[in-house]
Amino acid sequence: MNLSGFELARLSACHAILCHGASLSDLEAIAVELAQEWMCVNGRCGECPVCRTVLGERAVDLAVFRPWGKAHLLKISALRPVNATPPDEERPPNNVSSFLRTPPLMAATKVVVLHEADRLNKEAANALLKILEEPPGFAKFVLTTTSLGQIVSTIRSRCLPFSVAPSKIDESDPLVTVFGGKTGSLYMPDDLRPIYQELYEEALSSTDAPRGGALAFAEKSRSIAEKLSKTSGMTSRSANAEVLRCLAFWAVKAHARSPGKSQYVVDAHKMVLGMVNPGCVFDSVWSTILA
Ligand SMILES: [Zn+2]
Repeated sequence: MNLSGFELARLSACHAILCHGASLSDLEAIAVELAQEWMCVNGRCGECPVCRTVLGERAVDLAVFRPWGKAHLLKISALRPVNATPPDEERPPNNVSSFLRTPPLMAATKVVVLHEADRLNKEAANALLKILEEPPGFAKFVLTTTSLGQIVSTIRSRCLPFSVAPSKIDESDPLVTVFGGKTGSLYMPDDLRPIYQELYEEALSSTDAPRGGALAFAEKSRSIAEKLSKTSGMTSRSANAEVLRCLAFWAVKAHARSPGKSQYVVDAHKMVLGMVNPGCVFDSVWSTILA
C-alpha cells in the first residue's frame, strides 16, 4: 500500500481521518503510512527510530486500539480511565485521554489509531466525539472501518473520509490469493515473504497430517509468529494474530466442506485480537483443523 504524495499531503493536513475499505490489512497499512507521515520529523524516512517503532506499534507517541473481548467491541476503557469495572472485565493497557494528556516525547505529533471504529459502543463513541471536538493541537487521529455505514454520523462529520481501494491482486501468487482473503490483498514487504511462504507450506502439509500431529503444528505456527515479530517489529500479539488471520483465510478455502473448522480459526483470530493469550490458541486451532 503506498499513498501518493498528493494524497498524503491532502490527508495529513487534517487532524482526523476515517479510512474505509474492504480489507483490514490495507487499512492497517494506510494507518501506518499516515502515522509515519505525521510523526517522523524527516518526512517519513522509514529509517529513524520513530518510523521503525511506528511499524511495530511500539512508538511511545502512537496509541493503537482494536476491538477486544467476546463481543469484539471498543469500549469506554479505551477512551478514558474507568474506575469501576467488573473484576473480570478486560481493558486495554492505555486509553486515549490519558495518552493525550502530555505532548509527544519523540515524534512531531501524537497519533491515535482506532481500528474497526464501527465496533465502538455508544458510550465509547460519545467519549471519542468529545475528544475529536476539542483535540490538543499535537494530536492526530486515524479511524478505520470496513463498515462505513455503521459509524455514527456525529463521528463521521468530524473526520475526513478516505476510501481505500483494494490493492491490485496478483493472481499468480498463492500467498497473496490465499492469505489476502476476500479482497486478495496482503501487505507483505519483501523481507517478510519467506516467513509467509513457510506458513503457507505448513498449512499445505497439514492436509494429510495425522490427528496426533496437532501439537507439532501448533509449535511450528508459534515459531513462525515469533520470526514474523522479530523481522517486522510487530508486537508478539500482532504477529500471532497475523499468523491466525492467514490460517483463517487458508482454512476457509481448504476446508470449505467443513465450515465449522474454518469458523473456529476465524473466531480464534478474533480472540487473539482481543485479550486472549495467543500462545495457547494454536494448540486448539490445530487440534480442530486436524480433527
Ligand atoms: Zn522517520
